[in-house]
Amino acid sequence: MSRTTPTVHLVGAGPGDPELLTLKAVRAIRAATVLLVDDLVSDGVLRYARKSARIVHVGKRGGCASTPQAFIEKLMAAEALKGERVVRLKGGDPFVFGRGGEEAQHLRAQGIAVEVVNGITAGLAAVTSLGVPLTHREHAHGVMFVTGHARGDAAALHWPTLAAAAAQGLTLVIYMGIATIEALQGGLLQGLAPDTPVAVVQHASLPQQRDVQCTLSELAATVQREGICSPAIIVVGDVLRALQCLPAPIAMTRAA
Ligand code: SAH
Repeated sequence: MSRTTPTVHLVGAGPGDPELLTLKAVRAIRAATVLLVDDLVSDGVLRYARKSARIVHVGKRGGCASTPQAFIEKLMAAEALKGERVVRLKGGDPFVFGRGGEEAQHLRAQGIAVEVVNGITAGLAAVTSLGVPLTHREHAHGVMFVTGHARGDAAALHWPTLAAAAAQGLTLVIYMGIATIEALQGGLLQGLAPDTPVAVVQHASLPQQRDVQCTLSELAATVQREGICSPAIIVVGDVLRALQCLPAPIAMTRAA
């Protein structure tokens, strides 16, 4: 690729703890002259940006006013075409939910090169922070990453079908599930036992992380009682029983 090809780096900022950034991400952030930043990106990550860099916050937390997607895409393209080193910084991994795929398509359609830097996705960090593996030879043979927030009813997941798959020994990791927690709990109970273990992790990897564990039948009531809100990951599956087999939680380093 020629050095003059306009390029946007879609960079995964990880779940929050800056120590979970990749070296490639740090290099791209340091080189950027313009950064477009989602609101799930922690301040600790932004410390790697140059002082002279222009930082544009384009957050879109569920339920709040957000920067229109079309504006974000237009701004990225315009800055890249001006020759700026543009980094689009997204929470977790840029290609796990969060519309990274749509942004890449839009940029490529305009002849702008897109380089993607993986990040540690929130689902991975959330489960690990509990000291639980995502797979385990005795409890889970695979993982499903799903979203509780679909674009319209037609696109919504059929929870009883997912429950049936989870009952076969798959761990279910649900992003953006807090707003629809009652519906997803009801759907999952059609295919999973009421005592299936569940965990909810808010702000995974950050000092303010909070997590609760309960059974599937207690899920919505527990989240409501404990005041857990977005951003949070809901984990469902027998793999959480591995937690009960451990003598003590595996020590995790969290951001200071
Ligand atoms: N690309 C991101 C996901 C974006 S969708 C990734 O790979 O992680 C936004 C959802 O991600 C939130 O609603 C929440 O479900 C989850 N999320 C992101 N950061 C999180 C964190 N630190 N702790 C818990 N959940 C998080």
